[in-house]
Amino acid sequence: MPVVGFHQARRPRQTPAAKLRREFSWPRPGGIAVSIAGASLIFSGALVLAPVVESAPVPVAAAVSQPGTTPGTSLAATEPSPVGQEPASTPTPGEKGTFSASGNSAAPIPARTAPPVAGAGADGPIQGLFAAGNGSPSDATLWDIQNPNSPLVLVNKQHLLAPVDYAPTDLVTPAVRSGSGEPILVRAEAASAIERMFAAAAAEGINITVKSSYRSFQTQVAVYSGYVASKGESAADSTSARPGYSEHQTGLAIDIGDADAGTTCDFNPCFATTPAGQWVAANASEYGFTVRYVAGHETTTGYLAEPWHLRYLGRSVTTDMNKHNIRSYEDYLGLPGAPGYK
Ligand SMILES: [Zn+2]
Repeated sequence: MPVVGFHQARRPRQTPAAKLRREFSWPRPGGIAVSIAGASLIFSGALVLAPVVESAPVPVAAAVSQPGTTPGTSLAATEPSPVGQEPASTPTPGEKGTFSASGNSAAPIPARTAPPVAGAGADGPIQGLFAAGNGSPSDATLWDIQNPNSPLVLVNKQHLLAPVDYAPTDLVTPAVRSGSGEPILVRAEAASAIERMFAAAAAEGINITVKSSYRSFQTQVAVYSGYVASKGESAADSTSARPGYSEHQTGLAIDIGDADAGTTCDFNPCFATTPAGQWVAANASEYGFTVRYVAGHETTTGYLAEPWHLRYLGRSVTTDMNKHNIRSYEDYLGLPGAPGYK
């Protein structure tokens, strides 16, 4: 279920006749409301105004109330969700062909034991994890990959943070070793996970450091602009996120170093060969982190491999990604890749 460009897909250019056919097809997003409005116009003889109805705001978000969606900001609220479109008299699964206003055969409504994760693909592995109640956040608004306050927030070259200058309100400094002059700042939940992870690595003789952590929108403006000035926009886009598109702005991402391996491989592909790089590749998921940009998945994530960049998603998600042998968050969500900016 492609999320990107869904709004455009909902309003293709088409003939007035095609518009009418579309208005009366059901189920579709907002089908109930639009069909009622369209029918009212026909019976009042005001069919000529149909294009106005098409372009008027349709109260889909209000009609499709899903936990985890933020009215007006969640693309998922406008998606043709089987849950959201079920009327009170929804047939039970298995009653085929009964859910159609026109009498045409309709697909059976799949059963869910929990609401879907908003914004993720209907068939993404994360839906199965959360439907089973494993590790789903207690706060339903966090079941939305577009909520910047959720550990599940998806940020890539197709998914801009909203608001673009978002800043977390619970940044803290974990008690771990710094590998740079930068202050270490991450969100509270990630901070405690970092402390446990670094302690576990240290117990095995691996001394991980934090080279970079939270970066504000304003900082990312400076970082990205610096890359563009020195390398050009194309090269900058392959190594640095544009402001508003960086996981570092969420307070859930860190770049790490190895205190014992020197600095040669800092921010370099060879970091994967350092003891710290190898340790996090094997163990970070146990602490809720994933190595976000891995080799072989560049066209999905939009970035060259960064074996030093860790993203906090929560242990239930990262261990489930491992279980399914899924190496990118995009794939885990069942969403298209984000090879470049829109
Ligand atoms: Zn990073």
